[in-house]
Amino acid sequence: MPNEPSVQEQILKDYPRMTLDDRFPFQCRQGLACFTHCCQDISIVLTPYDVLRLTRALGIDSSEFLRRYTISPFTADQKFPVVLLKMDPETKKCAFVGDAGCSVYAQRPWACRMYPLGVAEPRHATPTDRPFYFLLKEDVCHGHAEARTISVREWIADQGIETHDMMGASFKALMLDEFWDKTDGLTPEQMEMYYMACFDLDRFRRFVFESRFLEMFVVDEARAEAMRTSDEDLLDFAMQWLRFSLFGEKSMKIKPSVMEAKRQAMAAGAQ
Ligand code: SF4
Ligand code: SF4
Repeated sequence: MPNEPSVQEQILKDYPRMTLDDRFPFQCRQGLACFTHCCQDISIVLTPYDVLRLTRALGIDSSEFLRRYTISPFTADQKFPVVLLKMDPETKKCAFVGDAGCSVYAQRPWACRMYPLGVAEPRHATPTDRPFYFLLKEDVCHGHAEARTISVREWIADQGIETHDMMGASFKALMLDEFWDKTDGLTPEQMEMYYMACFDLDRFRRFVFESRFLEMFVVDEARAEAMRTSDEDLLDFAMQWLRFSLFGEKSMKIKPSVMEAKRQAMAAGAQ
């Protein structure tokens, strides 16, 4: 029996492809019978920037946020860690939903902003296989029966998705890198590094500033100061660090003194 197509394969094959100018009828508003019903029993995958914004909005440490509000399921064929919003085990509801809607609305994740739109992004875009938008029509959602129409472009602007896309560009580049086609997966240590650098930014900051990291790598003072005080700058640096430490790219420079000490140690070991 042939294998069932994956969700991604089904979307690429069956869903009508929408451009930025395509319009669709949709409005989400308080008063609809479905209001907040979509915030339960769902898989909301968080990006590093989602975690950064939610953590900051809640005023807690990133490790605590991850522990309290997320899960990180792992399957044998998974090549890197993913972080999902945790649903209440009994009610199946998102921790942030209440009768009045989303309590973290201004900081809601990318996936919550995009809904009911999805975006399909082939890993290797070609002239015939390019990224496209598609509409998710689920029975639970009455917003599709509303009279208002909106274009994909207007929806993206209205939901503040551009900032997320801009801040997530280097993470997206990391995810779409051909490295993942060639590797069987990361070692447990690399998994841990990936998780920390992408999601546990407060811990990553301690890793950079409270270890010998800055003694070993060339990081100019202005950049180091920006990373000390700005989560966005630190996240940008984390992506650069992962490209160096996972992909072996020359995105970081080891200090000449460290290279020389290593060379001397190797020479001494060879004698
Ligand atoms: S974060 Fe907000 S919008 Fe997203 S699922 Fe939770 S309550 Fe709903
Ligand atoms: S189900 Fe659809 S219309 Fe209803 S609250 Fe959720 S997104 Fe809005």
